[in-house]
Amino acid sequence: MTASVPPSVPVTQDVMTIPRKLPDGPTNLVGLTREGLRTALIAAGTPERQAKMRAGQVWQWIYQKGVRDFEAMTNLAKPYRAELANNFVVAVPEVVTRQISADGTRKYLVRIAGGHEVEVVYIPETDRGTLCISSQVGCTLTCSFCHTGTQKLVRNLTAGEIIGQVMLARDDLEEWTPAGEGSDARPRLISNIVLMGMGEPLYNFENVRDAMKIAMDPEGISLSRRRITLSTSGVVPEIARTADEIGCMLAVSFHGTTDEIRDKLVPINKKWPINDLLDALRAYPKASNSERITFEYVMLKDVNDSDEDARRLVQLIKGIPAKINLIPFNEWPGAPYERSDWQRIERFADIVYKAGYASPIRTPRGEDIMAACGQLKSATQRERKSRAQIAAESGVPG
Ligand code: SAH
Ligand code: SF4
Repeated sequence: MTASVPPSVPVTQDVMTIPRKLPDGPTNLVGLTREGLRTALIAAGTPERQAKMRAGQVWQWIYQKGVRDFEAMTNLAKPYRAELANNFVVAVPEVVTRQISADGTRKYLVRIAGGHEVEVVYIPETDRGTLCISSQVGCTLTCSFCHTGTQKLVRNLTAGEIIGQVMLARDDLEEWTPAGEGSDARPRLISNIVLMGMGEPLYNFENVRDAMKIAMDPEGISLSRRRITLSTSGVVPEIARTADEIGCMLAVSFHGTTDEIRDKLVPINKKWPINDLLDALRAYPKASNSERITFEYVMLKDVNDSDEDARRLVQLIKGIPAKINLIPFNEWPGAPYERSDWQRIERFADIVYKAGYASPIRTPRGEDIMAACGQLKSATQRERKSRAQIAAESGVPG
């Protein structure tokens, strides 16, 4: 293999978050916490004693019914609706393209303020439907097997842009609760959310937390905290906070069983090595047999896929309620690795399973539309890169 190991360890959070209020325009209500919504309504003239009730009503229109137009909020007085429309908008990111894979997976390319783009993936399965959402444009980390890691980070997403991804997918799947129906009257199309798209969610903690609180709110999208999984590459200091302030399920991009190899694959390991990470996971207050931590392990040919790796892995995680998700490597143009052979993956899974851990092999979904794990990257970036490559090949400056 010809792995290109990043020379430095970019672990600082040198990103900016744009304010919710655009310089001249009205405030977007999407992404405000309940308390934030109440405060915004008061600031726009709603009497304080009514504000909690009004916030509750507006909340239900936005997050239960999927309504974007204040005029349609029929349990509010007409003049009040007009006042809201003067001060606020209910806006979600714009879908630029939607691709549907032969296997039913849907990938949305979504445009957010500033013209940046992120990808959102919907994966229907027989017993569930999972929406994979992004937390950043690109990623400051540079895991050597990840396509997103090759994209220069542009910025953190706001809470509105994060929950907005769920809302636009519900629009597309026509999943809003019709008037007069309870939110659980029909089977859920989006039954699970995974923060496994672009970006490191724990480097955008507050926005991810606020967005997931909205997703869990019983008077709105109303997903159980057990149906939300946050995947981190191992931002150790934020792990305990994830349990306390979000309370969702945790997945960790483990991928290597020695610091030497994990340093190369997941460079954040140089800052928080395997033992520090495992200590934080052992202390994860929510971990139990019913709420296991998922260890994600990408299978890279001749890099991390030996029997010895499998045995080392089960030794390391001893005592942690865990499930090991084996991810066959998904290739992308210019990737420095290859996918392990199928037999090798099965043999690895078998060793882990015999040691007492569930070891499902994740079936790649939506490969034909580049929607599989680690393949996400803004189309504009791909285009730019391929143009640069063409220019390099032809000797003409790009
Ligand atoms: N930044 C977070 C979440 C996004 S990545 C994290 O790293 O955990 C979601 C999962 O896909 C991670 O486990 C990541 O390591 C894995 N992944 C990245 N690139 C991949 C690729 N090319 N093939 C298979 N899995 C990949
Ligand atoms: Fe960032 Fe996760 Fe990709 Fe690593 S695997 S570069 S943390 S998105």
